[in-house]
Amino acid sequence: MKLITILIPAYNEEDVLEQLYERLNTVMSRADKYDFEILFINDGSKDRTLEIIKEMRKTDPRVSFVDLSRNFGKETAMSAGFDYARGDAVIILDADLQDPPELIPEMINYWEDGYDDVYAKRRTREGESWFKKWSSAKFYKTLQKSTRIPLQADTGDFRLLDRRCIEALKTIRETQRYTKGMFSWIGYNKKEILFDRNPRAAGETKWNYWKLAELALEGITSFTTFPLRISTFFGVFVSLSAFIYMIWIIFKTLYFGESVAGYPSMMVIILFLGGVQLLTIGIIGEYLGRVFNETKNRPLYFVDEYNEEKVQGQRDRF
Ligand code: UDP
Ligand code: MG
Repeated sequence: MKLITILIPAYNEEDVLEQLYERLNTVMSRADKYDFEILFINDGSKDRTLEIIKEMRKTDPRVSFVDLSRNFGKETAMSAGFDYARGDAVIILDADLQDPPELIPEMINYWEDGYDDVYAKRRTREGESWFKKWSSAKFYKTLQKSTRIPLQADTGDFRLLDRRCIEALKTIRETQRYTKGMFSWIGYNKKEILFDRNPRAAGETKWNYWKLAELALEGITSFTTFPLRISTFFGVFVSLSAFIYMIWIIFKTLYFGESVAGYPSMMVIILFLGGVQLLTIGIIGEYLGRVFNETKNRPLYFVDEYNEEKVQGQRDRF
């Protein structure tokens, strides 16, 4: 029998786990042609998430878990999941039931038809602010313009991946991960299915804007790319101010004449070029910062515990 891993990154999800398990159970009992593994990645939760998972495992041997040594973020949690998943196919599911497990049988059907990556595209997104929807739409559009690789808009991480996609993803070990881009980048046979995204079943989203801003700040202060970042922002600021100033000087000169010959044009050019230079140095800095992070060549994560077994140091899985 083929084994299907349901990969669930979970960070402080104590409120939804019971409900999630029940919904999954119903779906799995109907798809009785397959063996299932429910693989929870506990991403350093501070609530009872891990205890609840351990309780589940006592009564249901299909439940496995990887307990990360701290909170690494969803992207890294997923890559831990790819390393530890045993299935012939892996289905990535959010713990909060925003991705309905009832879609799983349809995904499996397409997988049987020979598709390697069956991804669920959101037809609607209930319970999310217009700003989140708007910014996400803009983000996808801009990203698509910048690359030749076809991206899947309005698609989250909810998808079924064949073993060979998982093997491909396991070879990508970069530390600053954007997994959605990787799904597109690896290619293979893709199939789209549509669904209506539900609001969270319970608990809170981990990505409110305040937290995102906090995270950005933490990133700036804890790494040494700090001066490079500053030049980007400063460059944008100076360029913008110089532009506004330029318009003002042109206007002033046309209507009131020049006080000192050549001064306005010189001032505008100096300021404008200065801003542009700072901006481009900043952009180079952004990339240099990424290179810096990758050359450190650190492991992506550390595992505290895998199915009640304490893990020593880094266990390289691939
Ligand atoms: N998550 C995680 N680590 C984190 C943040 C989130 O593993 O640091 C998990 C979370 O438990 C959930 C999924 O990632 O299963 C999506 O998170 P969330 O629902 O908060 O994000 P949203 O749906 O609001 O984008
Ligand atoms: Mg969610």
